[in-house]
Amino acid sequence: MAKQGQRIQDLIGLVHQLYALDLAEDWDNVGLQVGEPGAQLERVMVSLDPGLSAVQAARDAGAQALVTHHPLLFRPIKRITPEDAVGQVIWTAMRADVAIISAHTNLDCAVDGLNSWLAARLGVQQNTPLQPVDGNYLKLVVFVPDGHEQGVAEALFASGAGQIGAYDQCSFRSNGEGTFRPGRGTNPFVGEVGQTEHVDEIRLETIVPKHKLARVLEKMQKVHPYEEIAYDLVPLQNQVPGAGLGRIGRLEQETTLDAFASRVKKALECDHLRLIGAGDRKVRKVALCGGSGAGLLQTAHRQGADVLVTGDVKYHDARHAEELGIAMIDAGHFATEKLMIEQVTEALQMAARRRHWEIIFEAYTGEQDPFRLY
Ligand SMILES: [Zn+2]
Repeated sequence: MAKQGQRIQDLIGLVHQLYALDLAEDWDNVGLQVGEPGAQLERVMVSLDPGLSAVQAARDAGAQALVTHHPLLFRPIKRITPEDAVGQVIWTAMRADVAIISAHTNLDCAVDGLNSWLAARLGVQQNTPLQPVDGNYLKLVVFVPDGHEQGVAEALFASGAGQIGAYDQCSFRSNGEGTFRPGRGTNPFVGEVGQTEHVDEIRLETIVPKHKLARVLEKMQKVHPYEEIAYDLVPLQNQVPGAGLGRIGRLEQETTLDAFASRVKKALECDHLRLIGAGDRKVRKVALCGGSGAGLLQTAHRQGADVLVTGDVKYHDARHAEELGIAMIDAGHFATEKLMIEQVTEALQMAARRRHWEIIFEAYTGEQDPFRLY
């Protein structure tokens, strides 16, 4: 019998198990960008950007997938030709049978993700999320005739409802009495047209991640015995413990901004930084966010950070930092994120080994910071 190998869809599942889809921002476009989910998989390459050189390197290495941080597709595209940059990447990836899968804000926010790796790299201890993430959960309450609640609950669980952390099949059930009067043209499961009915019902409550809602509702419609189903959807503000954008924590010892800047430069292997704040000011509490995190300046300040380490700092962000009295270190978008290449490669390789998958993961080492100092 032929050996059953893994497919692209297994890799997508693995990526989303490590970097949950629920953590991605609404505007983001994570997951499969290009590729055939059913295609065979033996080798995977990991890069920061879905650039042409990374796709070509994946192809030349014999990889069937490229896992990137930045997504390839953000805006709808009107045509795919090798004449524009994105089109050329899609074209090349499809011709070479290289799937592109991206883990972007879900990787940023993961408990064991980009920002926690950055914090470890910079020696920022006891760190917690700078901006905790909303889990994008909904509460689903559905009223089911007594005796049918288990069947409905099982259908909801099977389609993705009821998962809280490592616990699944979570629900709450309470008894009550439902009333209704079937109108003309109805075909009621209980009762008669025109007669008010009192029925023993179960109020079944469970939690649903937003991205699974359509599937859950579809399943519910199929198994629920009523013609018209009474249900409530309630938005929840529950956060995912330990997950969120950026991190904040403390250095083991107080230091100066300049001394900390030297450490950052070395740890991130970048040849230049831009600093906001006097070199001799004291630094102990550090906020950080890989990529473009200047939007978290106010949040970092509110939480008492002495400095925010990030990339893509603009002139007005710098002025704002001066006004607030918080220091900033702009180490660049590339330098604050490139560590994901090695880390994601390692995390995926370990997770694949635990599943006894014979897949090889390889870091793409050909990426350079597009900025050059002159
Ligand atoms: Zn980025």
